[in-house]
Amino acid sequence: MGLLHYVTKPFFEKLGFEYVDLPEPSLGTITLGLKYAPEFACFPLKAVLGEAIIAARMGVDYFVILGGTGPCRFGWYGVTIQEILGKLGYKMEVLIFDLPKEPWAREAYEKIGLKKNGIPVSKIAEGAIIAFQKMRLVEYVDELARKWRPVEVKKRSTNIARDNALELIDKQNKPVKLLMMRRKIKGLFMRVKRDLKKIPPRVGIVGEIYMVLEPAYTLRIEERLGELGALVDRRASGMYNYIIGDIGINFWHRMAIRAARPYLKYHAGGESIYSVGYSALFAKANYDGVVHISPLGCMPEIVAQTVMNRISRDYDIPILNLIFDEQTAEAGIQTRIEAFVDLIKRRKNVSGN
Ligand code: SF4
Repeated sequence: MGLLHYVTKPFFEKLGFEYVDLPEPSLGTITLGLKYAPEFACFPLKAVLGEAIIAARMGVDYFVILGGTGPCRFGWYGVTIQEILGKLGYKMEVLIFDLPKEPWAREAYEKIGLKKNGIPVSKIAEGAIIAFQKMRLVEYVDELARKWRPVEVKKRSTNIARDNALELIDKQNKPVKLLMMRRKIKGLFMRVKRDLKKIPPRVGIVGEIYMVLEPAYTLRIEERLGELGALVDRRASGMYNYIIGDIGINFWHRMAIRAARPYLKYHAGGESIYSVGYSALFAKANYDGVVHISPLGCMPEIVAQTVMNRISRDYDIPILNLIFDEQTAEAGIQTRIEAFVDLIKRRKNVSGN
């Protein structure tokens, strides 16, 4: 999912596993998932199933996935994928990770050696620290890229800085060096020529986490928005946001839940309450527009979309709802994004970008 492998790779390597990098998600991955996915599947399940089959074909022993509960199909991903793999004759084991307090989640932790007399605590701690540092760094790179893109002078020069920065992070596994890497990363971006006279319209992104973080299935929407001159200022979903949200200490998530309350009082599954809440927060912070991304077949985001129409009216803020699946046509999406950026620029009286 997106840049997550920069985070999980050093962790599992520290625990002594060989980490297998899967190929970039593509139409081939999704076609494979589609072929074997059950009829009830939402789009990300098809994508992850495709990845699992590719991994099994590559001879991978363990396929790691997060678990979940609540009114959303995510909690079923692990068991569904395991069952389909079994029927196809693959031996690969799906390890489902959830909060360790769940009794059924312990098996996965034990399998990778997180148990009494297993891998030394110091190794686990070191792996976790490096993973955490890398998570913060890759999200920093991502944030800089979003902010640089709409004002870059030479098209796609930001992408080169981003790729170089990610390579730096990937190669470094020493916590002390990682601590000092922010400055180096900033330096790489500072080399990109920007037109600082431009004041791009600000956009916030909300939606289902897999689609928000995995650009391959959304036709790289953030890059497209940036190249058209819109600044993707914030996203409701992110790796760090997700993890600290899950353990209940995410200030912004709490604010979002409060902001959502007049529109949606309860969690309707997935990120729906955050899609609603962050849209309201973005509107209150005078953003120029919100882009809502969801996969086909996602009930929680359909609930959110319905409610968000009211936020759009109440705060007079344009909200672009985009639903993606394997049939999404590039031309259609590009036209809608162009029209949206054009609209928010006109409302902001920005021209010449
Ligand atoms: S949030 Fe939607 S797309 Fe994601 S797993 Fe749940 S139902 Fe599926």
